[in-house]
Amino acid sequence: MKATVFHSTKKVSVDEVADPTIEASTDILLKVTSTAICGSDLHIYNGFLPQKKPMTMGHEFMGIVEEVGKDVKSLKKGDRVFVPFPIACGACFFCEHDLPGHCEESNDNYGPEGGLLTEKGGALFGYTDLYGGYAGGQAEYVRVPYGDVGPRKVPEGLSDEQVLFLTDIIPTGYTAIDWANPQGGETVVVFGCGPVGIMAMKSAWLRGAKRVFGVDRERYRMAKAAAIANAEVLHAQDDDVSEVIRAATNGRGADIAVDAVGLEAHRSVGDKIANVVHGEMGSISALRAAISAVRRGGTLSILGVYGMPYDNFPIGQLFDKGITLKMGQAPVHAIVDELLAHVVAGRLRADDVITHILPLSEAAKGYDIFCEKKDDCVKVVLKP
Ligand code: NAD
Ligand code: ZN
Ligand code: ZN
Repeated sequence: MKATVFHSTKKVSVDEVADPTIEASTDILLKVTSTAICGSDLHIYNGFLPQKKPMTMGHEFMGIVEEVGKDVKSLKKGDRVFVPFPIACGACFFCEHDLPGHCEESNDNYGPEGGLLTEKGGALFGYTDLYGGYAGGQAEYVRVPYGDVGPRKVPEGLSDEQVLFLTDIIPTGYTAIDWANPQGGETVVVFGCGPVGIMAMKSAWLRGAKRVFGVDRERYRMAKAAAIANAEVLHAQDDDVSEVIRAATNGRGADIAVDAVGLEAHRSVGDKIANVVHGEMGSISALRAAISAVRRGGTLSILGVYGMPYDNFPIGQLFDKGITLKMGQAPVHAIVDELLAHVVAGRLRADDVITHILPLSEAAKGYDIFCEKKDDCVKVVLKP
């Protein structure tokens, strides 16, 4: 079959690879009908997350069940499903505590420490050997472990584009707001007007926000957030973000700030020098801006991926402001049914983030335009 294979930094190609097979009696095989490229894939593509062996990419995918293992009870050949991005057993301590991203069973590298290159949480599809080494879904077929736990059947009448993003960016964006337990009337600022940030903005409205700000450094992405998420948009460098947010909140700052950027935030020359001096990769500049913009006693939700330790992390500022910090992988399994209901009812849509639909054979082009922000790219869907 054809699959999008990561080889080395900035090198992905659509290759002929072995067809997946049922390996455990609880597996299903899925014929992929739609799959997307995520900002998280870029961390591998850009070499921020190490992957030595060639690996099939992709953790946002859906399709038609092709085959089921003998112990799969809830699905049969021909069912149309989408699949949450964490691979979770459904029965361990963390799965039972609605933390599927920390499943103790799915990842051979699972461990409590969460070190830089060791002991990760649960496995993720197509997300390096550290995260289980499972082939991803940017392919014609994919093996899905725990067939009764992750996959959700698609209700009649919904297109692939309407449900595909329930695999990741809808639950992820929603989680940032949910973590803050909003009561309605909040001012929310989201750093990053990429697909995840835009879904956080939409979720903020859904949960009763009074004002929603979106921050980016790409004007076309700011325009997208304004157009489809009704956000008041600010430029990360050209606007004084904290001042604008404070002016809108009696000098206080946002009740909820969301970092939907992560370690690949744009770096200044000074940041790059600091990286070398401190032996760090990437930047916490978006996180710093979020810490500044959130109000005292507010909640800062970190969705953007960080892998490294960083010197000069502003723990003192966080302490003084009494910030509640929430972060990590979105607990997709725990909230996805509620979010599917919002999609079915038309209260939440995500298909409007799509800017490019390409055949799977053009996956390398998809990575390039998404990564380099060419052609006003916001979200790429691939069709096997
Ligand atoms: P993306 O790369 O498309 O979006 C990131 C956006 O941040 C871009 O629009 C970029 O221009 C902007 N940006 C860069 N530097 C900035 C700065 N200093 N201030 C403000 N904006 C800045 O990626 P995405 O798909 O939207 O994902 C966003 C982040 O969320 C990534 O780090 C991704 O890995 C992560 N993610 C986390 C989860 C989770 O479960 N926690 C799930 C999916 C994605
Ligand atoms: Zn993702
Ligand atoms: Zn588990």
